[in-house]
Amino acid sequence: MAYDRDNIFARILRDEIPCDKVFEDDHVLAFHDINPQAPTHVLVIPKGEYVSMDDFTANASDVEVAALFRAVGAVARELGLAGSGYRILANHGPDSHQEVPHLHVHIFGGRPLGPMLIRG
Ligand code: 5GP
Repeated sequence: MAYDRDNIFARILRDEIPCDKVFEDDHVLAFHDINPQAPTHVLVIPKGEYVSMDDFTANASDVEVAALFRAVGAVARELGLAGSGYRILANHGPDSHQEVPHLHVHIFGGRPLGPMLIRG
C-alpha cells in the first residue's frame, strides 16, 4: 500500500492538526487517542512514512525500529501502567479495521481489558 501523505497522523506530524502529546523524540511521537477506548489510550507512531508493521520492519532503520519499541515501553512506564498492566495493538489492513494508514501502536490501560479479541 502506498503511503498517503494526507493521512491524519501525517498531518499531526506536520503540526497541521493538534494532538495531546505524551512523548516525542527524533523518531517517535506518542499522543492520546481522540476517541479513547480505555481510561488510558495512547497512540505511538514513527515519524517516518510507514503504513504498517510489516512495511516498517522491512524498510525502517534499526534505529527507528528500536526507537518505536523503546517509546512504547517508556510511555507505559511513564503513564503508570507497568504495574496494573496494559495491552498493545497495531492494526493493518481491512481485516483489522485499520482507519489511519500510518503505522500506530495503541496502548490501552487503566482498567481490566477483558478478553483479547471479540469473537465472531
Ligand atoms: P486504527 O483503527 O487505525 O487502528 O486506529 C486509529 C485511531 O486513531 C482510532 O482509535 C481513532 O480514535 C484515532 N484517531 C483518529 N483521528 C484522530 C485524531 O485526529 N487525533 C487523535 N489523537 N486520534 C485520532
